[in-house]
Amino acid sequence: MIDRLSKSRSSARKINKIIPTPVADDGLDGKSNPFFDLDQNGAVMAYYIWIDGTGENMRGKTRTLQRKPTSVNELPEWNYDGSSTGQSTGENSDVLLRPVAFYRDPFRRGDNILVMCETLCPDGSPHPTNHRFGCKEKMDKAYAHRPWFGIEQEYTMLDCNGKHPYGWPENGYPGPQGPYYCGVGANRVHGRSIVEAHYRACMYAGIKIAGSNAEVMPSQWEYQVGPCEGVEMGDMLWVSRWILCRVAEEFNVVISFDPKPIKGDWNGAGLHTNISTEAMRHPGGLAVIQDAMSRFEKMHIEHIQAYDPNGGEDNKRRLTGAHETASIHEFSYGVANRGASVRIPRQVEKDGFGYFEATCLQR
Ligand code: ADP
Ligand code: MN
Ligand code: MN
Ligand code: MN
Repeated sequence: MIDRLSKSRSSARKINKIIPTPVADDGLDGKSNPFFDLDQNGAVMAYYIWIDGTGENMRGKTRTLQRKPTSVNELPEWNYDGSSTGQSTGENSDVLLRPVAFYRDPFRRGDNILVMCETLCPDGSPHPTNHRFGCKEKMDKAYAHRPWFGIEQEYTMLDCNGKHPYGWPENGYPGPQGPYYCGVGANRVHGRSIVEAHYRACMYAGIKIAGSNAEVMPSQWEYQVGPCEGVEMGDMLWVSRWILCRVAEEFNVVISFDPKPIKGDWNGAGLHTNISTEAMRHPGGLAVIQDAMSRFEKMHIEHIQAYDPNGGEDNKRRLTGAHETASIHEFSYGVANRGASVRIPRQVEKDGFGYFEATCLQR
């Protein structure tokens, strides 16, 4: 055990992309753990989670609270060793954790909680990998517009080696895409138990999960979170991802949010983002949406660079113009066009107001 821990620690130091290693099923998790329903003597376990130096993977650790908090302000700040998460080097390795939101913990249940945190430097300034801080500033500034977001998170289930899609033949490939999207049957979908468990776990936690569906590539799925207003969107999305990875752990499955996990004639996994402001949601809103489009167009390159944790490099593999994606190089939009950077739903054009869908985002 110690050996395993020290190994993962040293590999995390030179972290860029963590390759998940199979975790032996010790049979002591969740319901099968005979100690799981011991009472906690009035104390609460708080699982603090944060985004690590990859901008993609999450970390977390537990602390005891003497009572269940009623507001996020009651949650103490904490810290961790940033040299083990790709977030600091050398002597000054502490990164501070500031709780920003908390949810019921669907794994430990009872009064236990999951705590979403932002990361700060020792001097209290936002850590360079903390994008929530700037997001919150902008959302506060835009408060009068009441910006709503609804995110469609696509992902791929992989075997515990983190490479092979879950349920795919050991050697070779499943039949070509076509029957899998929203499919049913053991020859059409893999991993439905994980999807169902994740859906319930999100509901239990208080995440605004809005739906889910099997995707075009077998073992690829989607769920939607939202609509959420402002920075709550990010908090709920990240916690929903953590819950998904944690649920899949129980099934010895690894979740990938990579935009193009399998090369070739297989769809990638995107993160469609549905957006509206107060003005867009009311009569006359279509003109406001169209005005936003001309502004999006001007900022396309900057946006693409911000849409994945690697400056647009990851998304390049997905946004080829094929497989229901737009080209990464130019901004486009259209009514009901699933091959454009932004799709305006047919119903929105008909009503003259509503929202639009940016299809070019990644993680
Ligand atoms: P698609 O047809 O692209 O697959 P989905 O049904 O998967 O669409 O997702 C649509 C998303 O749009 C949902 O998450 C929903 O919460 C969100 N949504 C609906 N109305 C609005 C709105 N006015 N503003 C922002 N998001 C919205
Ligand atoms: Mn969808
Ligand atoms: Mn989809
Ligand atoms: Mn969509």
